[in-house]
Amino acid sequence: MDAARPSKATDKTDMPGAAPAPPEVSARSTGAEASRPTPMMEQYIEIKTANPDCLLFYRMGDFYEMFFDDAEVASRALGIVLTKRGKHLGNDIPMCGVPIERADEYLHRLIALGHRVAVCEQLEDPAEAKKRGAKAVVRRDVVRLVTPGTLTEDSLLDAKRNNYLAAVARAKSSAPGEDSRFALACLDISTGEFRLTECDRLGLAAQIARIDPGEVIVSDALYGDPDLAPYLRTLVAVTPLPRDVFDGTSAERRLASYFAVATTEAFGALSRLELTAAAACVTYVERTQIGRRPPLSPPVREAAGATLIIDAATRANLELMRTLSGERRGSLLAAIDRTVTAAGSRLLAQRLAAPLTDASAIAARLDAVSWLVADASLRNDAQKTLAAAPDLARALARLVLGRGGPRDLAAIRDGLHAAVSLSERLAAAEGAPDEAARAITALRSPDPALVAMLDAALAEDLPFLKRDGGFVRVGFDPALDETRTLRDEARRVIAALQARYAETTGIRSLKVRHNNVLGYFVEVTAQHGDKLFSAPLNATFFHRQTLSGQVRFSTTELGELEAKVASAADRALGLELDIFDRLCGAVVEQAEPIKAAARALAIIDVAAALAGLAVERHYVRPQVDASLAFHIAGGRHPVVEAALAEDGAPFVANNCDLTPPSGENAGRIYVVTGPNMAGKSTYLRQNALIVVLAQMGSFVPAERADIGVVDRLFSRVGAADDLARGRSTFMVEMVETAAILNQAGTRSLVILDEIGRGTATFDGLSIAWAAIEHLHDRNRCRALFATHFHELTALAHKLKRLFNATMRVKEWHGDVVFLHEVVAGAADRSYGIQVAKLAGLPAAVIERAKHVLAELEAQDRMSPAQRLIDDLPLFAASRAVPKETPEPASDALRTVLDALNPDEMSPKQALDALYQLKQAAAKKTP
Ligand code: ADP
Ligand code: MG
Repeated sequence: MDAARPSKATDKTDMPGAAPAPPEVSARSTGAEASRPTPMMEQYIEIKTANPDCLLFYRMGDFYEMFFDDAEVASRALGIVLTKRGKHLGNDIPMCGVPIERADEYLHRLIALGHRVAVCEQLEDPAEAKKRGAKAVVRRDVVRLVTPGTLTEDSLLDAKRNNYLAAVARAKSSAPGEDSRFALACLDISTGEFRLTECDRLGLAAQIARIDPGEVIVSDALYGDPDLAPYLRTLVAVTPLPRDVFDGTSAERRLASYFAVATTEAFGALSRLELTAAAACVTYVERTQIGRRPPLSPPVREAAGATLIIDAATRANLELMRTLSGERRGSLLAAIDRTVTAAGSRLLAQRLAAPLTDASAIAARLDAVSWLVADASLRNDAQKTLAAAPDLARALARLVLGRGGPRDLAAIRDGLHAAVSLSERLAAAEGAPDEAARAITALRSPDPALVAMLDAALAEDLPFLKRDGGFVRVGFDPALDETRTLRDEARRVIAALQARYAETTGIRSLKVRHNNVLGYFVEVTAQHGDKLFSAPLNATFFHRQTLSGQVRFSTTELGELEAKVASAADRALGLELDIFDRLCGAVVEQAEPIKAAARALAIIDVAAALAGLAVERHYVRPQVDASLAFHIAGGRHPVVEAALAEDGAPFVANNCDLTPPSGENAGRIYVVTGPNMAGKSTYLRQNALIVVLAQMGSFVPAERADIGVVDRLFSRVGAADDLARGRSTFMVEMVETAAILNQAGTRSLVILDEIGRGTATFDGLSIAWAAIEHLHDRNRCRALFATHFHELTALAHKLKRLFNATMRVKEWHGDVVFLHEVVAGAADRSYGIQVAKLAGLPAAVIERAKHVLAELEAQDRMSPAQRLIDDLPLFAASRAVPKETPEPASDALRTVLDALNPDEMSPKQALDALYQLKQAAAKKTP
């Protein structure tokens, strides 16, 4: 068990310097007579009742205590000791607590486990309460709800990732059969980003997969909706909320009020549905922050179709942000991330999650990367400056929310310094493209007076908490300096007392010491104790404490000096806190320009990081336009290439050309065959990843890439691959394949990897066969289709935009050597036995398998695919009328039966006939 409660806790009631114990603490032993709740319990129950869905962190002195069920839940979740405290309605009250200085850590764990926490603070000094009477309870209230989507502390957040809160609103269609519309609002209160979009049911899942929110809020009605509930249950944290939060009629007013504007028109033409989702978000933020308003940017509406649609399965399958096993390492993001700031890393992740579809917007980003590719010294200088820039956006959010500390002020100071030097360096370079030029302006937008003030005010070494004091620089505020001098003077006098007391008592080892319990005291060893207990010294020294080796005393003089130190220290801290508020106010006033500068830093960080990556890994600038071209020369897989490079192994580059053949208005489909381990999956994915990189505005791992904008990207892997990871079944594979066949269009890129593998050979082959026909004739998309059914290559004769490609392999002394090279044509066979041999199957098994294969091949002289090609007209199935069951062919049994005429038979003849029938039947069944 984790000892959340240090033994020091027992000291808290007898600490002279500390706040006096709240009256309810001493009312601990109300015992059996307490059938009525104590006033404190009444208060607790009232606050808890108002926050039923949260664990209540109830502040008592230096602890957050939890009671009743909360205590049981938390003690289990956190592994902390469950104790009891008094009685309620005759039963013990379970209790557990966490010390405030470690509260963040425990909050983090509770939130990660899916709990919500209401933080209830003491709103007055316990001494104030005491003035109202001995039984008075300290005023307390909830100051904040901590939920997964509304975090601001660095200790609760991943620096490199946004933490989004998303709200989903639905407009049910009145026309039957017509789809509902959805609006999705998402915001990150730790950075202020706020975005809005409208979509249909399928789009909703794709958008949520892209945003990957920490928490999703929906109305109670939506949460219980039979259509949506199963999907919602698959998300990480979904919070159902009462109807008023999603009320459409008050939405515009609530949104306008949050931003203190008269109308939301300035945010663009928002639909009522979008307003509803956006208002739900801000209302929830206000409720969780108990009225505080984090510095949100006005919502930005994302036009439908502005970003490449990638559904959840495709994201997972392409391992964009994390690998299939859930790690960042090994993902595309990890392979390309060369950013040097947390904000840059977040922006890179955002761009990777949402590649663009507008060729000119993509070009604008690529221009910035090109600029920094071309000028290595500019790039290096920029990265050096950026590396010194703290996380402006998150520091700002904490300061605005009143949760900031001195180090957040320092982060603003250092961040703004970095912004100014970066803008100077960028402005000194020639030919800044638009994105960089805009950044230069934004980096300069905060008022220089603010930085000057922070420079002057903040000390060198800063405490984490403002209440620790000592963060204001000497010379900044004369009144503060004077109070500090008084305090330090008194401390000096106290230190000088030691020498004087040593002399008057004749005890050379006498010491003046300090601790939190006694304050200042005189300490002598036990053997000298008696001297101070007896006259005349006992007139000056009075006893405080006896330990095993020492005795401790105080004096009136020491007490007075201590009071002086304490009051001067209190005054000094009070002055420092005032200065903190003033500095904080100055920062908050500049919130908008600070946010703009923070964003500009991130933009330059991303451009420089992508430029550095391009130089380091020899990526090229892709040509992205509105055509349907897809021509990659010398393409590589960015992650596999990097992994191989670590082992010093080369990656074999491959071409891919899915551009429509001349005279056609739809792209090509490649059927890629080749043995296992030949590199099919790698080849498929690398082409998809090149699209993602190009459209997010990055250079790509290729010698040349011409890409007509892709609007939807699909990728699926046959069930066998997923089964190995215990994730999926053939059914899921089919559901996902169905989704592609139903949705893909001419602008889509579809990657199908060994679809149909999860079932019997003929089933699988038939499904793959029909899927290819559908992709070619109906979806008319660009596609790559890897398969181990080499029968499928026969389709190239019939489908004119279908091409065969195969992974070259070499046979050498009966072994197979993978060349990882894609060439036109079909694999002649699957080399399964050779691969099995490579894998170390026993020689006897390999030999036997070769014999069996030879037998099977001899029996199956006419390839089934050739037969199919000849027999099956395209789409015969969709046109064909179901055939009647064919007459069973006549056979021996029937011949015998037909010859019988029961009416003319004698009993003996009938019996003979029966024997005859039995005989014929026996011949039939071997
Ligand atoms: P398949 O899907 O055909 O079974 P994979 O794509 O899974 O094959 O590739 C198997 C392994 O071969 C990969 O893990 C990788 O190490 C290596 N490989 C694949 N493609 C290449 C390539 N182009 N260059 C070098 N090695 C490659
Ligand atoms: Mg594969």
